[in-house]
Amino acid sequence: MKGYCVYLRKSRADVEAEARGEGETLSRHSNMLMELAKKQDLNVVKIYKEIVSGDSIAARPQMQSLLADVSECRYAGVLVAEIERLARGDTIDQGIVAQAFRESSTKIVTPAKTYDPDNEFDEEYFEFSLFMSRREYKTIKRRMQGGRLASVKEGNYISSAAPYGYRKVNPEPKVHTLEIVPEEAEMIRLMYSLYLEGHGAKYIANELDRIGISPQKSTSWEPSSIKKILSNPLYCGMLSWKTKSDGDALYKGRHEPIITEEVFLAVQQKKRTDPAAQLRPNDKLMNYYHNILYCQNCGHQMKRRFIAGSGHEHMLCACRECRGKVVSSTVEAVDEAVIAALRYRITGLEKLRYSGADEKRSKPDKKVPLMAELEKAKRQLSKLYDLLEKEIYDTDTFLERSKKVNDKIRSLEAAVRETEIEKKPSQLPPDEAVRRLQNVIDSFSDSAPEEKNRLLHTALRRIYYYKTERASRSNPSSDLLLSAEFL
Ligand SMILES: [Zn+2]
Repeated sequence: MKGYCVYLRKSRADVEAEARGEGETLSRHSNMLMELAKKQDLNVVKIYKEIVSGDSIAARPQMQSLLADVSECRYAGVLVAEIERLARGDTIDQGIVAQAFRESSTKIVTPAKTYDPDNEFDEEYFEFSLFMSRREYKTIKRRMQGGRLASVKEGNYISSAAPYGYRKVNPEPKVHTLEIVPEEAEMIRLMYSLYLEGHGAKYIANELDRIGISPQKSTSWEPSSIKKILSNPLYCGMLSWKTKSDGDALYKGRHEPIITEEVFLAVQQKKRTDPAAQLRPNDKLMNYYHNILYCQNCGHQMKRRFIAGSGHEHMLCACRECRGKVVSSTVEAVDEAVIAALRYRITGLEKLRYSGADEKRSKPDKKVPLMAELEKAKRQLSKLYDLLEKEIYDTDTFLERSKKVNDKIRSLEAAVRETEIEKKPSQLPPDEAVRRLQNVIDSFSDSAPEEKNRLLHTALRRIYYYKTERASRSNPSSDLLLSAEFL
C-alpha cells in the first residue's frame, strides 16, 4: 500500500506575518497536517520542507523533487495546507502540477477538501477546479457548456469517443460528425430487428457473441450495452443534450442514420409496453460453472463464451482489470483441471483419515494473538503522534519510527487476512466429503449442464481460476491454476 507525504512551504504573506512576530508557519502547518493524517488514518512516509519562498517551480527545489516523486506514482496522496501552496499565479506551473497529479492519480489532501483526480466528476475540468475559486470555475464551465450546446444545435457530434457503428470525422473546420462503419452498422440493425422479433438483451448479446462480432473495447457483449444501443436516438440521426430541467433535448444531427425513425420509435414503444422482452432469460443454463468459478485476480465470476477464432467454448474473465492479464481456457481444459483437483482432494482427505489427525485440533487458532499484536501496534502509532505533538520527537525521528510501526501494521493485517482464509473449516466429515467428491467425478461427464452445476455444488463452495499464459504450439503446457474451497 502506498503512503502519503507532506509538502510545507511559506507564502510571502507568511514571511511578513512572521516578521511581525506571529509564530513560525512551517511547524504550525506541519502540526496541523500531521493531526489531519492521524484523523484520516493516512500513513505519512515523507515530509518536503521548502526553506526558500520562491513562487515558481523553478525557484523551489523541494517542489521539483516532490513533482518527480509524484510523477513516479510514489504516493497515494500529498498533504498540503492549502492548494495554493503547490502552485500559485503562473498558469504553466499550475498546468504542470495538475498534470502530474492527474496522470499519477495522486490525491491532494487539504484540511478543507480532498481532491481525487480519479473521482473528480469531469476529468477535463480537474485542473480548473483545482486552482480557481468555485465561482470562476462555474462561470468558465457554463461558458464552455454554452459553446458546446451551440455546436450540438448545429448538428455536431462533440463527445470524445465515437459510438459503436460510427467513426468520428472532421470534414471541414468546426464541423464534427460521424461516418458509418458498414459492418458495425449491420450489427446495430440486427440488434434492433432481433429486439422487435421479441428477443431480450441477453439473448441478443449471446447471439452477437456466437456470430463472433465483438464490441469496440471488449471481447464479448454485455446485455447492458445492448440496452444502451437500443435506447440511443443517435442511431436514427438525432443528437441528445442533457438538460437540468426537462430530461434530454433532441437535435437533428449531421450524421447519416443507421435505422429509421419508425424502427427506433417502435423499439421505444415495445420497451415501455413489453418489459418481459427485456428480461427474458437465456433459455437454458449453459454455464455449469455458474456461482462456482471465480477469477482469482479480481473476484468476478468467470463467463462462458464461444470464441469464434478458436471454434471452442471458453471460460473467461470479462472484466476490464483482467483484460490481457487473465487468459481464457477452453471449457474442456477447465473440466479436466477441476476433476484433477477433486481427485487430489480425495487423496489428501484419505491421508488425513489414515493418520487419524484431526485437521481442526492440530491447528491452534492463530488469529487471536495476531489481533492482539495488531491492537498493540496501533496503540504504538498513536503514541508516536503524541510524542510528535509534544515535540519530544522531531519530524525525522517520527517518520523513521512511524514507518517501522506502519510496516508492522500492514504485515499483521495481511497475516490476519491469511488466517481468515485458512480458517474456513472443512465442515463435512472426511468420509462424507470423499463420497460426494467421488460421486461428482463419476457422474460429471455424462450429466446435463444443470445437473453438472448441482453436482459441483454438492462438493464445493467456490473454485478460483488463474491463468496468465496462452498455450501455443511452442508452449503447449498450460499454467492454469485452480484453487477450490471445498465443503
Ligand atoms: Zn478477473
